[in-house]
Amino acid sequence: MLSEERESRNFIENIIDNDIKEGRVRAIKTRFPPEPNGYLHIGHAKSIILNSGLAEEYGGTFNLRFDDTNPTKEKTEFVESIKADVEWLGADCGDTIFFASNYFDDMYEAAVRLIKNGKAYVSDLSADEIREYRGTLTEPGKEDPYSKRSIEENLQLFEDMKAGKYEDGSKVLRARIDMASPNINMRDPVIYRIAHMTHQNTKDKWCIYPMYDFAHPIEDAIEGITHSICTLEFEDHRPLYDWVVIEAGYKKTPEDTPKQIEFAKLYLTNVVTGKRYIKKLVEDKIVDGWDDPRLVSIAALRRRGFTPESIRKFVELCGISKSNASVDYAMLEYCIREDLKLKRSRIMAVLDPVKVVIDNYPEGQEEELTVVNNMENEELGSHTVKFTKELYIERDDFMKEPPKKYFRLYPGNEVRLMQAYYVTCTSFEEDENGNVTVIHCTYDPETKGGNSPDGRKVKGTIHWVPAPYAVKATVRLYENIVNEELGVYNEDGSLNLNPNSKTVLENCMIEPEILKAKPYDSFQFVRQGFFAVDPKDTTDDHLVFNRIVSLKSSYKLPANNQ
Ligand code: ATP
Ligand code: MG
Repeated sequence: MLSEERESRNFIENIIDNDIKEGRVRAIKTRFPPEPNGYLHIGHAKSIILNSGLAEEYGGTFNLRFDDTNPTKEKTEFVESIKADVEWLGADCGDTIFFASNYFDDMYEAAVRLIKNGKAYVSDLSADEIREYRGTLTEPGKEDPYSKRSIEENLQLFEDMKAGKYEDGSKVLRARIDMASPNINMRDPVIYRIAHMTHQNTKDKWCIYPMYDFAHPIEDAIEGITHSICTLEFEDHRPLYDWVVIEAGYKKTPEDTPKQIEFAKLYLTNVVTGKRYIKKLVEDKIVDGWDDPRLVSIAALRRRGFTPESIRKFVELCGISKSNASVDYAMLEYCIREDLKLKRSRIMAVLDPVKVVIDNYPEGQEEELTVVNNMENEELGSHTVKFTKELYIERDDFMKEPPKKYFRLYPGNEVRLMQAYYVTCTSFEEDENGNVTVIHCTYDPETKGGNSPDGRKVKGTIHWVPAPYAVKATVRLYENIVNEELGVYNEDGSLNLNPNSKTVLENCMIEPEILKAKPYDSFQFVRQGFFAVDPKDTTDDHLVFNRIVSLKSSYKLPANNQ
């Protein structure tokens, strides 16, 4: 979208507009810097869409850069999944993918420069001692006893750290800033630590690794990022970000770029996104991987049948702000429903089938009916379905003894079989437990197409599937994986799981048009909702569907979004 087209500019656009006006930047450059230690979730999608969207809006560039500075938790599996997610969301990150680890040499040299300028020193304090010396919000920190080491000694020690002469945790490199600073982040932060670990990219080349607060600004500076957009918890780290880029020689004043700008994270109410929790759900096999359709990882949303457009719409509705707020999952459902409504074909699927026999329909006869794929969008064309003597309908579209205002099928009542005929229930059969096994009807041949020439009206219209051609499939219905009513977390901090989060229906009957479906394809199952072909569990001869969202909702967009 061109910047002029939107009425109101968000605060980040205002900052960028101003930077352009005042000549601080010409081409803008943004980035998304995930750490490859898990799958991306809907919150990350906000960051991706925001950053790539700004690059597009201003005709700039957008980098996907893996912030792989901590080898302990990182895996190639995560690198691959993140690439796939960013691509699926449609973010244009050009042909190059960046890795922080490719700049380890630059970072090392930047650290050496700091030492030479008296701005960094090697300390032998343990992690606990460093924490102790750091002070609190109300008390200043204490000088590190090793801070008086000479430049020569520090250079030698740092080189020895790099050469592998010391054990993990025995020494660190600290920036020399101000132990009395009111901002704890500025109290001589650790910028390098020792970790004898194999890195997913640099393998065993390094046994010292830069800390995030040191690495990140250098990565941005090397790539020429103009606006380094991050979430609010980094606001207090901004002075350190500026300190690093200035002291490492990449910019002159805090107003220069790269410039860090913070925005509020996206939270979904009662939805679990934390990596720690998801990892445990995966390990305990409560979910079937990081892409289990009940999760809100991007991979899970894709598998469930969400579209990139629906997620973009959602992010747009959430807006960009400086204050944390939580958004209802129903808003995400609203976005996918709106997106699919006109784009998808409508198919008749019976999730809990019961057989209907039309006693007066001639034995062996069948008729091919043409049905429109989407009444609201002619462009989707039509398909055919055969009408036959034996059909399946939804079990709850029939009642032996209906309550008042039940307009569907019951003995003596006439209903419309969608797009086909009027039928009247004459009798039913049941098993010894009282479960209905077969419903007998007669049809009125004059009502073909679902209208009566004598103007006779029926109140109920139900869907059906021709029994001889029905395609048997599995359909899975989902609810929130955690218990919203009783609280998401238990007292011990564990998740309060919802035992009904997944319902598997094994005997669904779908009209044969469905045989054209491929993994990820989605449909509206009439009267039921939107469903997508599960890419993982579907086989060549058995379709498995995930319900993306039901058709109806009481959800209303907040007034300012209408
Ligand atoms: P970690 O706890 O491992 O740091 P993380 O979710 O912050 O988890 P990162 O890989 O560091 O993971 O995140 C990459 C980028 O996504 C960061 O710039 C971060 O600010 C942004 N981001 C993370 N969570 C959200 C969220 N909920 N909403 C918007 N942006 C987010
Ligand atoms: Mg992070």
